[in-house]
Amino acid sequence: MKDKKKNKQNKIKLFLSLIILILIATIIGLVIWRTSEDKKEKEITYNQLYNDIKEGKVEEIEMTIGGSTVTTKYKDKDEKKTGKINTTQGFMDFINEQLKEGNEIKVNIKNPSALITVGEKIFSFIPTIMIIVLVVILFKMQGIGEKGKIYGGDEENDTGIKFKDVAGLDEEKGELVEIVDFLKNPKRFQNMGAKIPRGILLYGKPGTGKTLIAKAIAGEAGVPFISMSGSEFIEMFAGLGASRVRKLFEKAKKVSPCIVFIDEIDAIGARRSNGSGAETENNQTLNQLLVEMDGFESNETVIVLAATNRPEMLDKALLRPGRFDRQITIPAPDLLGREEILKLYTENKKLASDIDLKEVAGDTAGFTGAELNNLLNEAAILATRHNHEVIEKNDLEAAIKKITVGLEKHNRVVSDKDKKLTAYHEAGHAVVSRFLETQSNVKEVSIIPRGYTGGYTMYKTTEDKFYISKTELEEKMIALMGGRAAEKIALNDISTGASNDIEVATGIAKDMITVYGMSNILGPMSLKVDDPYELQIFGEDIVDEVGVQVKKLIDQAYETAQKILMEHMDVLTAVAETLLVKETISGEEFEEFFK
Ligand code: ADP
Ligand code: ZN
Repeated sequence: MKDKKKNKQNKIKLFLSLIILILIATIIGLVIWRTSEDKKEKEITYNQLYNDIKEGKVEEIEMTIGGSTVTTKYKDKDEKKTGKINTTQGFMDFINEQLKEGNEIKVNIKNPSALITVGEKIFSFIPTIMIIVLVVILFKMQGIGEKGKIYGGDEENDTGIKFKDVAGLDEEKGELVEIVDFLKNPKRFQNMGAKIPRGILLYGKPGTGKTLIAKAIAGEAGVPFISMSGSEFIEMFAGLGASRVRKLFEKAKKVSPCIVFIDEIDAIGARRSNGSGAETENNQTLNQLLVEMDGFESNETVIVLAATNRPEMLDKALLRPGRFDRQITIPAPDLLGREEILKLYTENKKLASDIDLKEVAGDTAGFTGAELNNLLNEAAILATRHNHEVIEKNDLEAAIKKITVGLEKHNRVVSDKDKKLTAYHEAGHAVVSRFLETQSNVKEVSIIPRGYTGGYTMYKTTEDKFYISKTELEEKMIALMGGRAAEKIALNDISTGASNDIEVATGIAKDMITVYGMSNILGPMSLKVDDPYELQIFGEDIVDEVGVQVKKLIDQAYETAQKILMEHMDVLTAVAETLLVKETISGEEFEEFFK
């Protein structure tokens, strides 16, 4: 992902430097043109020179042997004139005659300097060369090489990736095994009259292994893998996106059977609307894609896999039969999936014997495959830095914290007042959530700054649930309000430190009312809109009521948090004061306060 962004940035940089180059070239061109204009003004003809010399007006004459340019300096005016005159023997004889007759002309005969002439020539060619270079670079940027070739995606003949390299995702792999069979033996299916699927959409957030699984299909079937990212189709020049699509499919048909993989398809397949200027180019690209998908001959075994994390964005035309009519969701791994991914990526790493991957999987709810891979890599780096023989448990835990809460900021100077505020704030979160049925147990409370936060409260992760109850959402809001509530009750002051808590809590409240239909007054109605304008159809009363209900939920949460803390002031104070001394308290130590 980052590489792609960099790529884009580089393109922009390249484009800017091109514009600067064009400007410079234009200026140089203008200057050269101007100077040659200047020369023209003072040009002298053969006849004029002849007469001027005869009349004794000329003071000095400079010429090059065998050359044709003559510079003359006049006596009266401080003027020089240049002319292209054939310095033939006849002209030389004429000058000699004049000299003999007493005409005092200084004659400078110069040896022609090869260097200067060549230099002058090159100089006058610079703009032309620059323009040629520019055009070549521009075309290359657009994917058109010297041979007029349009970039048609990357091609891998053998991805070398098999299903065993994709951990977890057993059901998804099961669904895709069929595609591997199709690719391996298309004739058999065709003879049976079975229609070969054309397009499969893979839904899932970045890093969940969509590219990996597409590559594994190609690897298992032993067919080429041709890939391109949706963002690469979007070009400055109209029509180029469409020709790239054409080229991509041409390439695919040539090597069929094969897999075509289009990443970030939402970049081209976004829902078409009224077609404003910028959108037309996009539409052309999308139209071309639809044409290609429809235009397969039955004997061409090209299977198109496309990935997106924003399925709701896609144009419905893409999902019609014969196009991307199969959709597979690639979810972030569950507990078991995470354990399997961790197993896969620890095969080549040395781990301390007390590390239980099941436990690590439990601590990393919500991590994608890419993040788990990254986590183990971080742990290995930390272990190396600490000169450990193997990856130790604390290396792994430090890596998890680094990824979830950010890096420890040891050298940030924190005032005593801030420390106290943070201590009460974090203690507030921890103590409040201790009394909430649905909230997880505290894993660690700390006032050591990390990333952007002054301190943090970490909870033991429980398995990510599919459904969340209303009570759980309400209690989550109460726990979030615990920080602000503690500041208010214990220190009678509030700080900006709670801004993120408040933002998250407000988001939950809004969703409860407008998405989950959890308000008694408004009932099960979805008020989720893309455009605030759409809200008008509900009428003012309902829109106003949403505001009232959201506020009510937040107020209730804040009040409950304060109530809990007031009832347990002694624990709050004890935890906060301990934090001020120890900075970090573990889950077990925290439990001790309640015994
Ligand atoms: P996506 O295409 O969904 O954004 P990728 O397929 O590019 O994600 O995954 C990025 C990397 O994350 C992979 O190269 C692989 O190292 C790792 N990864 C993600 N999911 C898995 C998985 N299920 N099994 C093994 N590795 C995974
Ligand atoms: Zn907080």
